[in-house]
Amino acid sequence: MTANTNKTSDFEKVAGYPVWSGGQTALLRSVKDDIEQSRKITVIAINPEKVIRAADDPDLKDILLSADYLIPDGIGIVKASKKQRGAIKKRITGIDLMDGLCALAAQNSYRIFLLGAAEESVQGTKVFLEEKYPDLSICGVQNGYWQDDQKLLSDINETNPDIILVALGSPKQEMWIRENMKRLSACVYQGVGGSFDVFSGKVKRAPRWMQQIGLEWLYRLIFQPSRLRHQAKLLKFFRIAKESKNE
Ligand code: UDP
Repeated sequence: MTANTNKTSDFEKVAGYPVWSGGQTALLRSVKDDIEQSRKITVIAINPEKVIRAADDPDLKDILLSADYLIPDGIGIVKASKKQRGAIKKRITGIDLMDGLCALAAQNSYRIFLLGAAEESVQGTKVFLEEKYPDLSICGVQNGYWQDDQKLLSDINETNPDIILVALGSPKQEMWIRENMKRLSACVYQGVGGSFDVFSGKVKRAPRWMQQIGLEWLYRLIFQPSRLRHQAKLLKFFRIAKESKNE
């Protein structure tokens, strides 16, 4: 991975991780620059769940630390930044950034490959995005349940994408990107979690007002109560954030 060493001013340390603090518009400008310069970069969402998991998982920690752009996906990251009087004012969710990347791709003729989720989700996402961005070129799709790794890699490379959006859930997608990006020719690799399920209409996102007041996590909790296990660990996140500040 190429480190964006000239962009350190756009990152803020939260819980020990350099999180992008420059907002989505500047991030998209920076990614465009990366593509134009043929730099290979990874975009990974960071939230309290991942920080907590990474505390016991050195592999995940390493992946997060070596990402080129860690985006502040969870409201907990914004709150932790606020507590330390930092610069991160708003979330950049994986799904909003994915949408922004599609708009960027449509404007600049970048080619996008969609990888992951169930067949109807990935196909539905392609249809939705092509309707929303008539100039968008989605050069290939593959659901998240393939058999042959080698074939997958050569199939992807044959379509010649600039951007690969990987929807395998976390941390599987982050591990997949780390393992495989060296064999792929695309520049941009974003892990997008359950976004294809949302774009295809399979899963509903929280209403806009809930997103705006930072309650999207509550909406997801109501519809997926199994997430409670993760939410209960939030206190641990704020402890990690506090400790890393004092280091
Ligand atoms: N998924 C997949 N292959 C797998 C495991 C998961 O394609 O082997 C997909 C799954 O179908 C779903 C997404 O990964 O579309 C995970 O969504 P989730 O909301 O759980 O991810 P999160 O955003 O919480 O990481």
